[in-house]
Amino acid sequence: MAATQKEESWSKQDIETRLFINGKFVKATGGETFPLKSPSTMTVVAEVSEASVEDTNAAVAAAKAAQPSWAALSPEDRGAYMKKLAALIKESHAELAYLEAISMGRPVRTYWDAWVAASNFEHFAEAGYSVQGTSSLNMPGFVNVSLKQPFGVVAAIIPWNLPLFFFSSKVAPAIVAGNTVVLKSSEKAPLTSAKVASLIERAGFPPGVINVLSGHGHISGSCLSSHVDVRALSFTGSTRTGRMIQVAAAQSNLKNVMLELGGKSPAIVFDDANIESAAAETKNSIQWNSGQSCMANSRIYVQDTVADRFISLFKSHFEAVKIGDPTDETTDHGPVADELQYKVVSSYIDSGKQSGKLLFGGGSPDGAQGYVIQPTIFTNTPEDAKILKEEIFGPVVIINTFSTEEEILKKANDTEYGLYAAVYTKDIDRAMRFAKGLEAGTVGINCTSPTVAHDMPFGGWKTSGVGREGYYSSIDNFLETKTVLMKVAV
Ligand code: NAD
Repeated sequence: MAATQKEESWSKQDIETRLFINGKFVKATGGETFPLKSPSTMTVVAEVSEASVEDTNAAVAAAKAAQPSWAALSPEDRGAYMKKLAALIKESHAELAYLEAISMGRPVRTYWDAWVAASNFEHFAEAGYSVQGTSSLNMPGFVNVSLKQPFGVVAAIIPWNLPLFFFSSKVAPAIVAGNTVVLKSSEKAPLTSAKVASLIERAGFPPGVINVLSGHGHISGSCLSSHVDVRALSFTGSTRTGRMIQVAAAQSNLKNVMLELGGKSPAIVFDDANIESAAAETKNSIQWNSGQSCMANSRIYVQDTVADRFISLFKSHFEAVKIGDPTDETTDHGPVADELQYKVVSSYIDSGKQSGKLLFGGGSPDGAQGYVIQPTIFTNTPEDAKILKEEIFGPVVIINTFSTEEEILKKANDTEYGLYAAVYTKDIDRAMRFAKGLEAGTVGINCTSPTVAHDMPFGGWKTSGVGREGYYSSIDNFLETKTVLMKVAV
């Protein structure tokens, strides 16, 4: 791709790796760092600051000090900073795409996170006036109102698969509501959050309003989860970590916790569906981002009457995927995030080979550099097999067949997860029966993930989460409600 003027204005060597506390970039106390390796070249691309307990406490203290004057600003004054930040994020798109590619292997070609992050900041910049309580004259002799007020200091802990999307969908609603934030990025993908911290500085936010820490779950993550000055915490990540955060919150100050967790999402394809679109869309769902998507349709159930045709189309889409260097503009399938993820996904593939039939993929392609896993298909897998029950978080799909509606609804719901479910059919009554019957936070009819709607609530049933995010759901996650009873003399 021809380099543009803007892309030349940043340097691949100039990578921010420090903590952003109280409006300043600082190294971790004690100078602790951790090496970040590119999953593609397997070389160290940065030594990143590991926030200590002292650093985490300093970030929370800075946020606490900044919060009253931030909350005292009008919504449009808070929004003005957010609009500046959105513009800077858009300008930095190419650099952010490059940073994600070298940290967790996301192909630059498929990188849209910066556009979505900018539009989240733009949307919530305008949303401050929607924070409103209620009023009531229903109690004789009283005028009563309810007020919506910020918690104070809130924390955000984000995963590595779509870091900037989660950064923006937590920080933007939190700050427009008058809270200040301490965000901890993932140790596997800290570079874009640190870059956005430099944009926060350039946008001129008052010190302490947004603090950005890098580091592992233990120390800074668990410190935020149990911090008594953090009054709400929004988390996206694994169900395992979500449970630990709930426990830490309960054992400290019972902070409000919002959890967006894992999934094992089914897509069901009936024989009356448009089989070509179903194959193309379900393939995209499980392959983009190397299958590292919470809502990926990792279980596909196809009606036996069209199974051969569907599987052959699906396989041809996997065959066409271009595997390679994520910084190359022509690559659409990069490595998984790191060595650990590679080992975990590989061990699921080994287990899949014992339980079902490996139809395609199943390892690293010949000559591939880095932690690359081929898009992989298993068929004929028993419903109780490990790979059908547990979240793999890699480009591995199980395609099984079914014959009746009753049978498949039961199988689709036979999971502890409930994030997303899809059904492909042209029968409107059947589509509605599945919309009602599927146990999931989002149901796609003739579409599948990653299709989502910004203005619809997003979140999980069962162990896939607690709470909802979205244009009209997220602000409320960062607000306390107070009732004011006013007795009126007669
Ligand atoms: P993870 O749970 O390992 O880590 C997520 C974050 O939690 C990281 O920042 C990590 O450092 C931190 N953390 C780890 N231990 C902690 C602790 N004890 N206390 C506090 N913080 C701690 O998840 P991951 O591997 O980064 O992300 C993959 C998982 O995220 C998958 O399960 C995926 O399904 C899920 N996910 C869910 C959604 C959703 O919207 N539901 C979206 C994306 C990813």
